[in-house]
Amino acid sequence: MTEIENSAALLSAHVTSLKGVGPVIAGALAKKGIETIDDLLYYAPIRWLDRGKVKRIGELEPGEEASVVARVDSYRSMFFRHARKKGFEVIVSDDTGYLSLKWFQWTKGYLQKICVKDSTLFLSGKVGVFNGNLQMVHPEVMVIGDDEDPGDARKIVPLYSQIDGVKQGFLRRIIGEAIKSLGISSAGVLSEETQKAYGLMTLNNAMWNIHTPSVEDFSRDVGEESIRRLILEEYLHFQITIMAKKKKMMKEAGISFKTGGPMEKAFMEGIGFELTQAQQRVIGQIRDDMSGRTPMNRLLQGDVGSGKTVCAAVAACIAIDNGFQVALMAPTEILAEQHYFNVHRWFDALGVPVVLLKGGLGSERKGVLEKIRTGATPVVIGTHAVIQQDVEFRKLGLVVIDEQHRFGVEQRKRLKDKSRLPDVLSMTATPIPRTLSMVIYGDLDVSVIDEMPAGRQKILTKVLADNEKEKAHKAIKEELGAGRGAFIVYPLVEESRQKELQDAVGMASYLQKNVFPAHNVGLLHGKMKTQDKEDVMNRFRQGKIDVLVCTTVIEVGIDVPGASVIVIENAERFGLSQLHQLRGRVGRGAHASRCLLVASTKRTNIATKRLKIMEKTTDGFVIAEEDLRLRGVGDMLGVRQTGLPQFRIGDIVSDVDIMIKARKIAEEMVANLSGHDIEKLLERIGDRFDDKKGFSHIA
Ligand code: ADP
Ligand code: MG
Repeated sequence: MTEIENSAALLSAHVTSLKGVGPVIAGALAKKGIETIDDLLYYAPIRWLDRGKVKRIGELEPGEEASVVARVDSYRSMFFRHARKKGFEVIVSDDTGYLSLKWFQWTKGYLQKICVKDSTLFLSGKVGVFNGNLQMVHPEVMVIGDDEDPGDARKIVPLYSQIDGVKQGFLRRIIGEAIKSLGISSAGVLSEETQKAYGLMTLNNAMWNIHTPSVEDFSRDVGEESIRRLILEEYLHFQITIMAKKKKMMKEAGISFKTGGPMEKAFMEGIGFELTQAQQRVIGQIRDDMSGRTPMNRLLQGDVGSGKTVCAAVAACIAIDNGFQVALMAPTEILAEQHYFNVHRWFDALGVPVVLLKGGLGSERKGVLEKIRTGATPVVIGTHAVIQQDVEFRKLGLVVIDEQHRFGVEQRKRLKDKSRLPDVLSMTATPIPRTLSMVIYGDLDVSVIDEMPAGRQKILTKVLADNEKEKAHKAIKEELGAGRGAFIVYPLVEESRQKELQDAVGMASYLQKNVFPAHNVGLLHGKMKTQDKEDVMNRFRQGKIDVLVCTTVIEVGIDVPGASVIVIENAERFGLSQLHQLRGRVGRGAHASRCLLVASTKRTNIATKRLKIMEKTTDGFVIAEEDLRLRGVGDMLGVRQTGLPQFRIGDIVSDVDIMIKARKIAEEMVANLSGHDIEKLLERIGDRFDDKKGFSHIA
């Protein structure tokens, strides 16, 4: 075996291959996601204890900030008379003296971890004196363990975040063992030259630095830089994986469409409005993609109403001009219906048949499928069922996907089975900061429509407390008086779905009876039959329903130009991006609109701050940035939905600069390596970031 293969084998070995690690310890480690030696080496210390800077208790001076290492002698709960409150005291010692640690408040379980007799603690805090005894009040504490090796003469010791069931000393020992057996052979994917070119230390050096820091030249900075090197390595693995896939797919011949055909021209001439600069730019990109021989895989991001669908329609025209069929998919039947409504208006004028493939077609279905099979129907609209089940296309050339961030491998494979690899255009109104989209959609080309069509109406947003509901009702009545429609939205949270559904149902009848007796109140929720939903939507569109009480089924895409006010109840439960989407349901017609966010009076400060952002801006990207900052990626996107890559180390928001660097390096590597070398590289990286684990977009 070569040195590289050797280290790869070692790294992928299970932790139980280390001396002293049996199933119990392995189980404890697994809870923290540590399964292999590699995982263990990525478990970076949260700080380093510099024994040279640690004082003995006998040397402590009152008033100074200091660190000590000491053992727990005793502990007790007590009443501090002078402070008139209950508290907790722990007495620790080393062989030079005693120190009292005091807490007046603490989180549950915190002291239990500390109060283990003879356990060794690393303490930092301000030294004080009380009744002649040295004390620290609310010191920073880290449990080093009770098996602190007195023979461990190392001056600098890594301190790891606590793992239940694994003691610090033991963890330190097995990590030390792992890194020693790794030796100095290269564990990373970068060649020496690349590391030099980018001024990087080797991965092995970084690992040695953080886990077994050398006495002479260790400083916090070295530690931090080493950790950043580990983060970079992992980000590299991710970027290389998706880029290699992308490169592979680029080789796959797609369809080279000719642009500028008669349908495309006729459509452009007939749309009846001026395209925005942003739309023109995006249409240009789509034309380039489609005429190229590699299959288009583009994501179109833009706020609700920014005019994404028009761009998609141009793409459809290009496909049709070239004799291909188009499939347009939406996440729900309601949305598919709405697309159908818009698209078939445009295409009827051009003489192009469009079909809506939905459930409940009954005996008609056979005929519809036949027309798709023979190619007589060039445009097919529906949910994902369109490319599944029994639908057979004659010549599918373009797939447009609305609001589907994840278009998985399986689905793509199905497409491939149906035809030559078609072009794919995805659309989303969930704006994601560019840097992050690079991470999440690393394998897609991303276009952004960052400009609204001229003449869009303003939406005035206001946050109300839930005891100010009258104001919301008054606003609704005003709009109704002017002949407009209103949405009232209730959140549905998975755990209490049933109860909240009842809320919406109950509220609808309450509002009808007590608040809007002179108007028609309708109800729309996800549990209703499709036909009933459509019915309600149509009646609302036609103004036969004035107030639509609904759950978030209206979140994406619903277009009711006559609606001019939306009230969102329990607004603090929604993410900002979601609120932004909901708000986009109004302001689509000719009238200025309002959005009222009703929040629980019990809401927290942070929730209020978040909601205030909605009052200040209607820019989806600004809102997304804030959402991201306040809630983190997972909450913002709903991790389960999008299946974010799981990194062992590093945070894709705060370490985004490292991700950008990783992308640059990976791009260069993948461009310069032969197919064979890339395969080898992928083998070493393993399947951590593979499609099967659920987030890449390319088959
Ligand atoms: P999105 O899909 O981004 O939410 P749509 O494409 O559905 O937006 O456009 C919203 C509405 O604006 C549609 O009625 C569409 O016809 C209209 N529209 C799109 N682009 C323009 C434009 N440049 N000028 C005026 N109206 C436009
Ligand atoms: Mg749309």
